[in-house]
Amino acid sequence: MMPEDHSRVGVGFDIHRLVEGRRLVLGGVVVPYEKGLLGHSDADVVLHALTDAILGAAAMPDIGEMFPDTDPRYRDADSRELLTEVVNKVAMRGLSVGNTDVVVHAEAPKLSAHKRDMIGTIAKLLGVPAECVSVKAKTNEGFGAIGCGDAIACTAVVLLVRRSEPQLPARSTRTEAGAHRLPPYEGGMKGG
Ligand code: MG
Repeated sequence: MMPEDHSRVGVGFDIHRLVEGRRLVLGGVVVPYEKGLLGHSDADVVLHALTDAILGAAAMPDIGEMFPDTDPRYRDADSRELLTEVVNKVAMRGLSVGNTDVVVHAEAPKLSAHKRDMIGTIAKLLGVPAECVSVKAKTNEGFGAIGCGDAIACTAVVLLVRRSEPQLPARSTRTEAGAHRLPPYEGGMKGG
């Protein structure tokens, strides 16, 4: 059993290769760029790191175990749905997000114009005010795969807090009926 009144911290990291012919999705926001991230799902490296940070804080199986890329159900998955599912899972344990701090490691594109959108989108997905979400963008000063523009990575830290009242699942976007309440990204996941 988890201690009753303790906050729990979690860290998540993810990295994806940047390739041509894919849409770039970061923090649930489509960012116009000549390349996108390669991956089984929409390859949203920010939401993957964030999801893993939440799972880590709850000491639950990580994103790769929970949503295996060998499972066709998660082919071209919308990472917003996976994050929502995880938020609901920890809510059922009486835990909810207190705040999160996210660092996107990207040489390009410049993300300053998209940060506000990313913060708003992440806040909505987590069910917290925008003041509880921080998104920072850092270049890699030209070093390594990230510095060469071959990859984008993300580090996320999340604080989970135990609410006094047990929480019911806030919402589900991956329901048995397959109802998707989030609007799909225009043109699907493949990018182009
Ligand atoms: Mg990933």
